Amino acid sequence: MSIDLKNYVRTIPDYPKPGILFRDITTLIEHPDGFRESVERMASEHRGLGITHVAGIEARGFIFGAAVAISLGVGFVPIRKSGKLPGETIGQNYALEYGVDTIEMHADVIGSVHRVLLVDDLIATGGTAIAALSLLRRTGAACDHASFVIDLPDLGGAEKMRAQGVNVHRLIEFEGH
Ligand code: AMP
Repeated sequence: MSIDLKNYVRTIPDYPKPGILFRDITTLIEHPDGFRESVERMASEHRGLGITHVAGIEARGFIFGAAVAISLGVGFVPIRKSGKLPGETIGQNYALEYGVDTIEMHADVIGSVHRVLLVDDLIATGGTAIAALSLLRRTGAACDHASFVIDLPDLGGAEKMRAQGVNVHRLIEFEGH
């Protein structure tokens, strides 16, 4: 039986700052059917595509990405905030509302023979996902599929990913911001 995953996402107004509607996936993953069904749908959409790795974006992308990697029978690559990975890294800056942030991945894990599925919990403006995409593509890996639990389409991130040639899969949409 199919369940409506949207019912499991809790919305918290004014977190982390006034005006933001925070889409909280902890209520989705604490529910066994909600978590399993999310992961199964994200994985089944990407079977048979030659995916060799799932890359998840810190931190909530690790929860879904790691589970999807197991379901697909492939490895998992963490994309982390700067300064967290112990080996040699490559980094990518991206703009925040105020200032700049950096994400990093290990330099030696993937390369031109690999095809990576990018996973995160939510895509909003797309700044984070586009930075992760640039990082993955700089390794020479193919990255033409991305999967998000939640899309906020009015913020345009999924459209930006499509403009980069990425097939964007998402389970739930919320209007507005
Ligand atoms: P963006 O780079 O604008 O696409 O933002 C995506 C990242 O910020 C994801 O890693 C999300 O976890 C987080 N994020 C952005 N907006 C929200 C929101 N309204 N609710 C929950 N998380 C959000």
